[in-house]
Amino acid sequence: MTNQEFDLHHLWHPYTSLTQPLPCYRVERASGVYLELADGRKLIDGMSSWWACLHGYNVPELNAAATGQLAKMSHVMFGGLTHDPAIALCRALGQVLPAGLDRFFLADSGSVSVEVALKMAIQYWHGRGTPKTRFAALSRGYHGDTFGAMSVCDPNGGMHSLYKGFLPEHIFVPTPQSPFDGELDPADLQALEAVLAEHHRELAALILEPVVQGAGGMRFYHPDYLKGARALCDRYEVLLIADEIATGFGRTGKLFACEWAGITPDIMCIGKALTGGYMTMAATITTQAVADTICNGPAGVLMHGPTFMANPLACAVALASLELLLASPWQQRIQAIEAQLKRELAPARDLPRVADVRVLGGIGVIEMKAPLAVAEVQKRLVELGVWIRPFGKLLYVMPPYIIKPDELSRLTGAMKVIAGQ
Ligand SMILES: *Cc1c(COP(=O)(O)O)cnc(C)c1O
Repeated sequence: MTNQEFDLHHLWHPYTSLTQPLPCYRVERASGVYLELADGRKLIDGMSSWWACLHGYNVPELNAAATGQLAKMSHVMFGGLTHDPAIALCRALGQVLPAGLDRFFLADSGSVSVEVALKMAIQYWHGRGTPKTRFAALSRGYHGDTFGAMSVCDPNGGMHSLYKGFLPEHIFVPTPQSPFDGELDPADLQALEAVLAEHHRELAALILEPVVQGAGGMRFYHPDYLKGARALCDRYEVLLIADEIATGFGRTGKLFACEWAGITPDIMCIGKALTGGYMTMAATITTQAVADTICNGPAGVLMHGPTFMANPLACAVALASLELLLASPWQQRIQAIEAQLKRELAPARDLPRVADVRVLGGIGVIEMKAPLAVAEVQKRLVELGVWIRPFGKLLYVMPPYIIKPDELSRLTGAMKVIAGQ
């Protein structure tokens, strides 16, 4: 059995079958914006390894942070012990997060950070003496694959019916229809208010992805919706959880997407790009008011503590990644990527099989009228020298910020070839 065959029959890949597996491409190494396959082909990366690899691959500064920390310790337990990498990272994050978010829980993945956010919200209401245990979420949202996170994902994605009976049933708000750069349709916030007015006594929090709904359809909505949601959550005494796992660290053109609306959520989740794509780590951050209420509540503590909490190696790389980002001209880079994506993808609008083309910050999307045949399209894209992963009806890119104009043109060119076929 070759390695390729072992992979095919023994290793699960995300959301795939082991009896009818999709082909996978073996990567040998990666550097800058290039993935090098085992057969020697080099692909321009359009995915940033799912929003994570902001600076590209094999980044000298991040390598140095990892090896420097490795020589000291790669991990120690966080119960009863602490260390400078965690302290320095959280102090640095506190300087750039929306004002007021300065109480940190370091988690081991995005989904876990969402679980922790839900726990914080439930424990907060225990602390207030008025327990509330349900959540409101936007339809078309995506918050991760663990059970709590799944329960607030779009209910029509198949997961809810599959795990019915085990998943808690929450309340879904129609997804906002107002486009990012259009007008806010008051109907969007009226729909949210209707849900809050009816259910606020049982709702611990509203959870949403600010401005960009990622895996649920790559949709961009109006920042004033976020402003309105903040005001409505205050009025109806429901906490607001912002899931910035995909949008954080500059991807939309602001360091955090909440900045488009100038709001501070009560709880925020970050992940994905936190370590510059080097390893898994996420964080759930809240305000002093929420933290104090949780800790003055009946449990007295926040009930979570993973084995690899605050992994020093991940913290050291995350700090180096944040410093590298802040020292870079990231705003200009995102503006340039956005302008080029808009210019080069616009012609795809006229293609007969294309339903929509949209761009925000470092995200470019072509939505087709019908789902794409993943294996075939993937093969064609690899032949075109690019790494773009088709998803349902969507062909989208969110490249590393360091991509050069000619490399980005290769990505948009490949997208137009596929969309035009
Ligand atoms: C990817 C993602 C998650 C889940 O993060 P994992 O690290 O894959 O567990 C949660 N929320 C959003 C918005 C995401 O994009």
